[in-house]
Amino acid sequence: MRRYLIALSLIASIVGIAGTATANMQIVVASGCSGAQATTIGNAATTATTWAGNTINNIATNTAAILTNSWAPYTTWFGAYDAGRLTRVNNVMGSISTKLTSSANLVVNCPADGTPPCDEIGDIAATVLDQDGDVEMWFCTTFFTLPPSAGYDTQAGTVIHEFSHAVGGTDDLEYGTQQAQWLATNNPAFAVVNADNYEFFNEDIN
Ligand SMILES: [Zn+2]
Repeated sequence: MRRYLIALSLIASIVGIAGTATANMQIVVASGCSGAQATTIGNAATTATTWAGNTINNIATNTAAILTNSWAPYTTWFGAYDAGRLTRVNNVMGSISTKLTSSANLVVNCPADGTPPCDEIGDIAATVLDQDGDVEMWFCTTFFTLPPSAGYDTQAGTVIHEFSHAVGGTDDLEYGTQQAQWLATNNPAFAVVNADNYEFFNEDIN
């Protein structure tokens, strides 16, 4: 499944407001989302906020095991311990959690299929960090078919994935659980900058 990373910083064009609050960020509908879709997005963001905090706590709790390559969630998604890579993972997760617990807006759009950035079957979501610090996201119709939080490729995990782009500097080097695990084993330097690895790591331990 494909997700777009939009690297350009844009100013949100807010044409409507529906106030579905997450635990922290405020959901602002810019275009196309029904009330039910805004609620689904808000729930996903709330779960992602909880997950990010839990994940950071789990890394701290399991640091000794990470150093000896004996905490499976870390080695599965980020490979063998290396000080620089662990710092990178902590920084990405910290940035995600900080933004999700900030007072910035989460500006959301729900484009129709075939409309950029939802051009192709399997497109799920896209993200930019606006110049004012708000995060703008586009949710394709596939997003609303994903499980909210159970297993892999979830709605909450998608929010983690997209926030890792917006504030964590990640890229889409590989998609999918098998490819992400391959990166962790064979190219952990890429694993720690690949968005799906952060998504699956969070889905694994939450
Ligand atoms: Zn992506």
